[in-house]
Amino acid sequence: MKDLQSVLWDWEAVIGLEVHTELTTLNTKMFCSCPIEFGAQPNTHVCPVCLGLPGALPVPNKAAIQSIVLAGLATNCEIMKRSMFYRKNYFYPDMSKNYQITQGPVAFCMHGGLNLEVSGPAAKERLHLEGTQPLGSDGFGAMSGYTTHIGITRIHMEEDAGKMIHVGGSSGRITDAEYSLVDYNRCGTPLIELVTEPDLRTPEEARLFLQKLRQIYLTLDISDCSMEEGSLRCDGNVSLRRRGSTELGTKTELKNMNSFKNLHDGLAYEICRQAEVLESGGTVRQETRHWEPGAKRTITMRVKETADDYRLFPDPDLAPYDLSDEFIQSVRDRLPELPDAKKQRFISDYGLPAADAENLSTDVELSAFFDKALRAASSKAVALAKPIANLLLNDVSAWLNASAVGSEALIMGSIAPEGIAELASLTLSGEISSKQAKEVFAAMVETGDSPLTIVEVRGLKQVNDSSEIERIVLGIISRFPEKVAEYQAGKTGLIGFFVGQAMKETSGQGNPKLINEIFTEKLQEA
Ligand SMILES: [Zn+2]
Repeated sequence: MKDLQSVLWDWEAVIGLEVHTELTTLNTKMFCSCPIEFGAQPNTHVCPVCLGLPGALPVPNKAAIQSIVLAGLATNCEIMKRSMFYRKNYFYPDMSKNYQITQGPVAFCMHGGLNLEVSGPAAKERLHLEGTQPLGSDGFGAMSGYTTHIGITRIHMEEDAGKMIHVGGSSGRITDAEYSLVDYNRCGTPLIELVTEPDLRTPEEARLFLQKLRQIYLTLDISDCSMEEGSLRCDGNVSLRRRGSTELGTKTELKNMNSFKNLHDGLAYEICRQAEVLESGGTVRQETRHWEPGAKRTITMRVKETADDYRLFPDPDLAPYDLSDEFIQSVRDRLPELPDAKKQRFISDYGLPAADAENLSTDVELSAFFDKALRAASSKAVALAKPIANLLLNDVSAWLNASAVGSEALIMGSIAPEGIAELASLTLSGEISSKQAKEVFAAMVETGDSPLTIVEVRGLKQVNDSSEIERIVLGIISRFPEKVAEYQAGKTGLIGFFVGQAMKETSGQGNPKLINEIFTEKLQEA
């Protein structure tokens, strides 16, 4: 099989995504008052409504409607003032009432879109840049990046099905299971499905779109968006067409891409597979395929010969749902600052480099912590923004990863924003070196003491006394006459050796910048 790069030279991939998100932050299900709880004892959170027993009447959950309107506003959708709930009829054991409540042609949110900035290695998959704009020169990877608009067809509301557990067999799928169990706890959990226009052109764009959407949903606090636990699930539609052609090819639908890497790799594989079929004179069948990450291939799940007939019709138990202007405005008032706006603010108000602003703004907890630290820095916020960002993106992130506590630890108060601001201030003023800052940070986490206390107790102050440093520098110059001669003969890289010697003599507490300057000056005179 050809690799993705060579395939994309000849073919244009046309990709659309369907993203299902469970509204896990709600307390109760979509049409009944059963609690939503992941990992509860099977079949303990069920009632006549979510089981669809005869005579049970569904009542829409207003908090769920608020969540979908939030999602729509945050993705630039038009909020439809009147939409309806429909029944999608099918039989499968995970849905005991034999239909799923979903929405019809008009959903709560229609005609939205997001701009996607693609930069760095991710941009390299896109070979022809029609329809995209290069990033500005202030951005990272300005020469290799671009911005592209991804249309959002709709976001509609539906309810989730139950969960099947297939026992026995090697694949964990129903086909070779000995028997299957069903847990209806998830049945009736509010789910929003976002459908994109077929505007994505590379697997990287698909991955970035899903990442961006996840960050938005996390910021809105409408879901925990866990791909492992299935509260965020993504299917992809892929077809190929010859470069320059505007017709759409036959698409396949790809399932089981339950991580960002799987989404990328599954789509990349499917693009290459379709190219091979088409180039050998075959035709792509319209079918649903299953991505097998272990075997790195997609396999046929079911072939679609005719359109699915779900007998979609308006649910007679549910009246058309009207949204008032006041309701929509009240939701708009609740919109938090979204990652793109946050990134812009970090750049324009605090002069952060675009890459730092991007990395901070896309982490909900880290960026909230950054704002708190800036508030603690008060009048010095602008000057301290970069050193604080450095601490958060390096030391703090490394600590979070290593201790596997997750960013929640930041909110839980394991590290105080005031402490990080103080540590940044000590680094910026040169009172401690960046190496010492690492030691102080480790001690802060361990003891809970403030950076100033740690610096004093451990005697960690950086040596900034230039007469003291000059004395050390002259001593080293007199001890290494041969190195000095080599340096003066043009081997200027030896400066590292000299600085290293001085750092050793000051037990790592000398200010390396000052040492470097004094050496450069004295070595010329020597
Ligand atoms: Zn229920």
